[in-house]
Amino acid sequence: MSEIERDRLEVDILIVGGGPAGLACALRLAQLRAQPGSPIADASIVVIEKGAHIGAHAISGAVLDPRAMIELLGSFPPEGCPIEAPVGADQVRFLTKSGSLRLPLLPPMLRNHGNHVVSLNRLTIWMAQKVEEAGIDLFPGFGGRELLFEEDRVVGVRCGDKGVDKNGERKGNFEPGVDILSKVVILAEGSRGSLTKDLVRRLRLDEGRNPQIYATGVKEVWQVPEGRFPAGEVLHTMGWPLSREEYGGGFVYGMRENMVAAGFVVALDYRNPWTDAHGLMQDWKRHPSVRGILEGGSLLTYGAKTIPEGGYFSIPRTAVDGCIIVGDAGGYLNAARLKGIHLGMKTGMIAAETAAECVTAGDTSRAALAVYESRVDESWVGEELRSVRNFRQGFAGGLVRGLLHTGLVLATKGRGMGERLEVKPDHTHMLRLEELRRRGRPTTPPAREIDGALTFDKLTDVYSSGTKHEEDQPSHLLIADTEICNTRCKVEFGNPCQYFCPAAVYEMVASEDGRGTRLQVNFTNCVHCKTCDIADPYEIITWVPPEGGGGPSYTHL
Ligand code: SF4
Repeated sequence: MSEIERDRLEVDILIVGGGPAGLACALRLAQLRAQPGSPIADASIVVIEKGAHIGAHAISGAVLDPRAMIELLGSFPPEGCPIEAPVGADQVRFLTKSGSLRLPLLPPMLRNHGNHVVSLNRLTIWMAQKVEEAGIDLFPGFGGRELLFEEDRVVGVRCGDKGVDKNGERKGNFEPGVDILSKVVILAEGSRGSLTKDLVRRLRLDEGRNPQIYATGVKEVWQVPEGRFPAGEVLHTMGWPLSREEYGGGFVYGMRENMVAAGFVVALDYRNPWTDAHGLMQDWKRHPSVRGILEGGSLLTYGAKTIPEGGYFSIPRTAVDGCIIVGDAGGYLNAARLKGIHLGMKTGMIAAETAAECVTAGDTSRAALAVYESRVDESWVGEELRSVRNFRQGFAGGLVRGLLHTGLVLATKGRGMGERLEVKPDHTHMLRLEELRRRGRPTTPPAREIDGALTFDKLTDVYSSGTKHEEDQPSHLLIADTEICNTRCKVEFGNPCQYFCPAAVYEMVASEDGRGTRLQVNFTNCVHCKTCDIADPYEIITWVPPEGGGGPSYTHL
């Protein structure tokens, strides 16, 4: 393609991502801008969001700790805020294949008294209305394709082009992506944000830190018979169908109007190449403790996302020249409490205050913006994350050791068995088929029972997610070398992308010469969870934003 002439937009503060962290940041900026005599009264503030509308890509459990919302809006729930219900009955069960044991005492981090069941999707739609009422420009359908730099200083974001065909040629409706230049860019892209990933690598922001480690969470919202599972009721499960070497579990949260949120999470530091979060959730739903809640109901919607679980020691440097990273993108999530929304919002608010001061002072260098990092660390965000700083690492040795270590973490206010327990990147843990054979473990994927009533295949669930992408565009899943998929990976790992992707994007099909199989990438199914970008053992898959507006269209999630 010849050199493209692009529109340029110059703003003071650009927020990339319309999730809870980005919207809390925008709302706090709106409040600061509206103060009498505000030095940022004339500041231009813009939020871009890759989803077709705000909330389209928002998914979480979710049980919300309202602390950040109270600080931001003065009370909770503020008028009109769509919460499902305050948390009522709250239990944790340990599942065996057919039985279950209720834990007699709730671990302190899983006590949810005072918290609220919410749909993040609905909450962000409501927050976006507040942001717009406050006069801040929101641009849904605009994905940030790359960061713009002057040397190592971030100076803006290039949005993705629209109207490019699958061969990379311009179509009749071609629109070049606009360059948005900004004094400060705030990255609120969510888990494994593609711009954040590039920035962390380019400036080595994770040097001296633990690598970020992730889980994949899949979730379905169901309509169930009346009275089956009251709004506000919370159930967490450990154990089956996970083995003792895997970390994760299930949840069921009661919503309004006889809906329930049911989800399953599995950490991506697993060894078994057949691990499949979606498939595990289907197995889990057949357990009597879950079946009894869902049976006779109907599936409403489905989604998936990754969750940054590394905690305090996996947070990279989050302020650089011209840029701040907030929320899940920065790894601000408490895996012990299964919560990140409140931390994302609070980091967004602190970023807003810091950016406003730095723009006013005319200095948005790393030296000036670094006050964001120290403020986060000194705030309740830092305090909360330090109090469980070695929690997740304790599960690297399996469930039993992890649970014992958790007791120590609680007793030592986060320290556990060391100053900083280390972890290895998720993609390094997967066992080769040869090793499975040597250990006498299955070398083929497990068969699963799918009945179309309680359990579903991936395509049915993807249909329920409302996912749509323009088909005639280049795939947004960049595979560095498909020969590795067709040859080495097939022999060494059995093409695990077919299992870890919760949306049936990766498929091994018969090759044209009839001699073997080749990888087919059904990118239009992609629900933007980013699992493939993390879990691929060869690190040859890169997720980039597709044409703006593509992806899931979540409701109730
Ligand atoms: Fe998730 Fe990757 Fe599958 Fe898309 S292709 S749904 S990002 S694993």
